[in-house]
Amino acid sequence: MGLLSARVERARLSASARAAQRARELRAAGRNIVELAQGEPDFNTPDHIIEAAYRAMHAGQTHYTQVDGTPELKAAIVAKFKRENGIECKPENVSASAGGKQVLFNALMATLDPGDEVLIPAPSWVAYADITHFCEGVPVWLPTRAEDGFKLRPEALERAITRKSKWLMLNSPSNPSGAVYTAGEYRALAAVLERHPSVWIISDDMYEHVLFDGRTFATLAVAAPQLAPRTLTVNGLSKTFAMTGWRLGYACGPVELIRAMARMQGQSSLNPSSVSQAAGVAALNGPMDIVHKRCAEFQARRDFIVPRLNAVPGLSCTLPHGAFYVYVSCAGWIGKGNIKNDADVTAHLLEHGVALPNGAGYGLSPYFRVSFASSLDNLEEACKRIRTAGENLR
Ligand code: PLP
Repeated sequence: MGLLSARVERARLSASARAAQRARELRAAGRNIVELAQGEPDFNTPDHIIEAAYRAMHAGQTHYTQVDGTPELKAAIVAKFKRENGIECKPENVSASAGGKQVLFNALMATLDPGDEVLIPAPSWVAYADITHFCEGVPVWLPTRAEDGFKLRPEALERAITRKSKWLMLNSPSNPSGAVYTAGEYRALAAVLERHPSVWIISDDMYEHVLFDGRTFATLAVAAPQLAPRTLTVNGLSKTFAMTGWRLGYACGPVELIRAMARMQGQSSLNPSSVSQAAGVAALNGPMDIVHKRCAEFQARRDFIVPRLNAVPGLSCTLPHGAFYVYVSCAGWIGKGNIKNDADVTAHLLEHGVALPNGAGYGLSPYFRVSFASSLDNLEEACKRIRTAGENLR
């Protein structure tokens, strides 16, 4: 009998983590690499949040807490959902975990039986498919088109639903495409979902506050309240408050699901860090001006990088409306030199000193993802190297 389980074989390293790891290895070997693979703000956590954590540690908040969040954190989450989204929920509808990723993990672990299908618009964040595999579910990619702004069309959703469909994953603003759904677009998808009452929906609102050009944010449970009894609304501190390392995410949803998620967490990590929870209270109840300032900075970086990428022959991208990624079509590079697919494209870019994840992991090829959560200097250097990489293909 071998050491490793079949389960561990289903746990894969994500395309973005692989690209970031490769960049670290090459740097350690003395190469100069610009890495635009990681999906995290390059800013630091705001001072008032760090200070709240420090005070909490001195006040003795260094012990185990309730499994899925302290009463103070749950109250702050309930208030946030009401104030920012118009979602009315109670503490028993709310769950906090070590990151939005653990929220999603708990939800799928608690609900998927082998063979259950999870509908994932393509492109989407890699983890949806990977967690589904891990939980013995079947990821079903629903391709979207650049012409539709990479948004799922109601007809495509209708065609994809089967008796095995358990979840639909929705994410706006989207990682990796920057697509943003309007309330009207959610209502059009809801009209389909109303005909299929056994399908549950995850609304992943992680990038809620990275929204450009004055757009307003919509969330499914409010746009289509009839779906709220089968919607899990997921959010977190990572992207909004530059707190990726603190590991704190949260969700609201029906009590039965929230309780089941807590049972999963109770047998794995237990509570999220007590210190992070105290910091989370300060973040959620605190000022938002720095968040808005940083969003404007992301928008300036978007406006810097998108025209430069579009100016490279063979590459094209649409303007992201939120999040800090641009999903770049490299169809014009396929067939040149030894390039057969988007994995070859990112390998070629790495040879030219830029580390990026390829589109296959996000379910839609041939593309690669560029994170513009990086300094303008880095972005400028990356664009130069990408241009040179393209020229060297001819
Ligand atoms: N959802 C999306 C779409 C993401 O891109 C990420 C992180 O990259 C997450 C959720 C989870 O973030 P975290 O686990 O840091 O809260």
